[in-house]
Amino acid sequence: MTPAARRTLLFSMIGALAVITAGTQARANPATEAPACAAGTLGVARVAEIDATGGPKFGAPGPEPFELLQDKEVVLTFDDGPMRRFTRPILEALDEECVKATFFIVGRMALSDPDTLRDTAARGHTIALHSWSHKRLDRIGAAASKQEIELGLSATTLALGQPAAPFFRFPYLGESSAMRAHLKKRDIANIAIDVDSRDFLTRNPTVMRKNVMSQLAQKGRGIILFHDIQPSTAGGIRALLGELKAKGYKVVHIVPKGHIATLPEFDAMAEREAKRRKIALSSQPLANRSAVWPMTPGEPESLPWVNLPAEEPVARPHVVRPVSQSPAASPAPPAVAPTLRPSVNDDSWATNPLGRP
Ligand SMILES: [Zn+2]
Repeated sequence: MTPAARRTLLFSMIGALAVITAGTQARANPATEAPACAAGTLGVARVAEIDATGGPKFGAPGPEPFELLQDKEVVLTFDDGPMRRFTRPILEALDEECVKATFFIVGRMALSDPDTLRDTAARGHTIALHSWSHKRLDRIGAAASKQEIELGLSATTLALGQPAAPFFRFPYLGESSAMRAHLKKRDIANIAIDVDSRDFLTRNPTVMRKNVMSQLAQKGRGIILFHDIQPSTAGGIRALLGELKAKGYKVVHIVPKGHIATLPEFDAMAEREAKRRKIALSSQPLANRSAVWPMTPGEPESLPWVNLPAEEPVARPHVVRPVSQSPAASPAPPAVAPTLRPSVNDDSWATNPLGRP
C-alpha cells in the first residue's frame, strides 16, 4: 500500500469513527454542512440531522430538553402558516441573514396557499407538520386526532409536491398520550419548544423580541417558537436576528434523516379538499390575486383580535403591504402601526384567538 493510500484509509476510518461516536451521543447528529453565507450575516452554525425513528421528543417540557443544543444555540421555528402576507416578509428577513428555519404547517393553510409553501421549501427551510386544522388533540378523541395528524401530513405533502419532514408539533402544545403513541408508531419526532415569543399576545415587535431575548438570557439556548401568521413576528424578526447575532447566539438548522410516507385514505381526503378549494377559487377569480386566499362562504372573516393594552411606540411592522402590490405602488406606511387582521379560514382558531401555539 502506498503512503497516499494509507493516508486515505486512515482518514476514512477516522471519519467512520466520528460518525459512530456522534451517533451514540445523541439522536441529532451534525449532518450536512451549513451553506456558505455572505460576510457579516448570522448564518447557520450547524445543521443537525434528526432521526425520527421511534418518535423522539425534543424541546421542553420533556425528559431531555436540551439534548439537541449546545450553549448559545437556537433553533428558529414558525408555526401555523403559510400565510403569505406574513410568511413572505419573514422569508426575506431569514434570507438576508442567511439562516434556515423550520416551518410547522397547518394542512388546510398549505392547500390554500401552496405557492408560499413551495417557496418556503425552495429557500431551504424545513417543512414540518402542525395538524390539519389546528385543533387541540388532547381535547378530541383518538380517531379525530389521528385524522388531524394524518390529513395534515397528506395535505402538506400534496401542497408541497414532495415529502415533508417527519417532525410534528402539537397545536397549543396539547399532547395526548394516545397521539404520542401514534407519533412513535409512525416514526414522527415530537418537536416542542423551549422559548416562546408569545407573538400571539402582542402586535408590538419590540415586545415579541424582548420576550425571546429575556427567556434566552435565562436558558442560554433553545428551540424558539414564532408564528408566521403574527404581525409582531413579521415586523420584528429582522431586529431579533440582529440581536441574536450581536449577542453571539448561533442558529442550528434541523433537517430530517428521512421522510415520511402518507397514508392512502388520507391522501384521498386531501385531494378532495384541494379540489374543493380549487372550485372555490374559480368562482372568485379576483380573490386569487389578493394577499390572502378567499374565504369559503360561511367561514369567519377574521380573527377576533382581543383588545390589547397600550404598548410603547415601536418601529412599525414592515409587512403591512399586501404582496399583490408592487413596492413602487405602495402607499407610505402610516406613522402608527395599523391593526392587522389576517383573514383565516380556520374556524377552530376563531374560538381560540389566544392560547396558541
Ligand atoms: Zn399552532
